[in-house]
Amino acid sequence: MPVSLKIAFAAFERPRGVLIVFCGEGLKFGPKTQRLLSPIGDLFRRAAAADRFTAKNGSTLDIIAPSGLNLPRLVVIGTGKERDLKSRDLVNLGGTSMGVVPKGAPQATILTEFASGSLKSDQIADLALGARLRAYTFDQYKTKKKEDDERATSVEVNFACANASAAEKAWARTSGVAEGVVLARDLINEPANVLYPAEFARRASALRKLGVIVEVVDVPAMKKLGMGAVLGVGQGSSHEPKIVIMRWNGGKRRADPVAFIGKGVCFDSGGISIKPAQGMEDMKGDMAGAACVVGLIHALASRKAKVNAIGAIGLVENMPDGRAQRPGDIVTTMSGQTIEVINTDAEGRLVLADVLHYVNKRFKPRFMIDLATLTGAIMVALGQEYAGLFSNDDKLAERVTKAGEATGERVWRMPLGPEYDKIIDSKFADMKNTGGRWAGSITAAQLLKRFVGETPWAHLDIAGTALGSPQNEINKSWSAGWGVRLLDRLSEDYYER
Ligand code: MN
Ligand code: ZN
Repeated sequence: MPVSLKIAFAAFERPRGVLIVFCGEGLKFGPKTQRLLSPIGDLFRRAAAADRFTAKNGSTLDIIAPSGLNLPRLVVIGTGKERDLKSRDLVNLGGTSMGVVPKGAPQATILTEFASGSLKSDQIADLALGARLRAYTFDQYKTKKKEDDERATSVEVNFACANASAAEKAWARTSGVAEGVVLARDLINEPANVLYPAEFARRASALRKLGVIVEVVDVPAMKKLGMGAVLGVGQGSSHEPKIVIMRWNGGKRRADPVAFIGKGVCFDSGGISIKPAQGMEDMKGDMAGAACVVGLIHALASRKAKVNAIGAIGLVENMPDGRAQRPGDIVTTMSGQTIEVINTDAEGRLVLADVLHYVNKRFKPRFMIDLATLTGAIMVALGQEYAGLFSNDDKLAERVTKAGEATGERVWRMPLGPEYDKIIDSKFADMKNTGGRWAGSITAAQLLKRFVGETPWAHLDIAGTALGSPQNEINKSWSAGWGVRLLDRLSEDYYER
């Protein structure tokens, strides 16, 4: 059973369960915390000295059964220099807080006060967001639990605050973002025998409950539209491709939408250019871009964002088969441009080529941002800390970069240019789908660029950040659901007025 987390906000009264408090530089507490801890006398200072606890940001001091307090455990979490703390630091502190609640503990109370005073409602919501993300587990396929894996099936975390109703209101917004991330993680962690294109489309359709308009484009419709690139990738699988269009209309009636496009290769075997066996199981996550788009639309709709947003995902399975696409095949995309398939494992860009063109033509969006686990080469360049950003528009690139810094889901801009474009010229068609090893991420982006017209566009290569995600304060899962918070923030900061 996954842990179910109940988050509540209450006026500060008597703490219950594990008590978590924050402590600033110089071992300073806020006034309420100080009052609450007065019965323990100098216990904290002695414990801090014994453990060399200096309240460095994110450090913890765990005091079991503190005498004077009728509580099982007191955990002091260091904040370091409070002046420097940003939203993403609060999220991390929330994750740290959840991390110190021991397995099996039914209750915890987090006192939302720093040395400098009570936290604002936005800051409390950030703490709760971090706690929610930290509590995430994906273990529904484990039918036998080891004894030390045994957890209480539910834990209640109470945020004790100066103004509980204001905190609750802030959380009503932020919790939609948290659930969007959780949704993305669930989709990515799900195995490909469960989550094939039709099932993915079914789960995306559940967004209708939030007022999202959802359309599913099936194979006959794709044929009519002339989407030869998507169809070529999907033709070797017994699961037919689907394209899902999600529309959230929270903005002004006539305002042009913003558009997010996701690569949704539910399983990428490489096709006829088959991948080596080692690590191929990770390719169930080759739909992380699409998962992020679904999580994002969930977030926007549940916090009723004042924006018109399109989410479009190309769902397909890339398999070797008697009917599968071959190297050397030439496909005609919806745009009319032709692509020679040199390597059937460079399939994501084929899917995106048609979906980008379709969205651009039909919706004339203010911008398009696509997310794709597109190239291993981006991992060689940037590792797992930054996603690669490619853009034809400096302003959009700058905004995405800033939203990344704010959320900690960071991007690093990579170059585009006509010199790179030449690398994908084909002997037989308008272009080929791979230009070889050198500049592999850039040539992939150059191909996408040929399908976006003059529309401001950014491409995020998330092959490094989306899968096998770094374990940190707010993520203990194989996939962090990378990108939902970044794009939610981008929308909120720049496109919702
Ligand atoms: Mn591939
Ligand atoms: Zn792929």
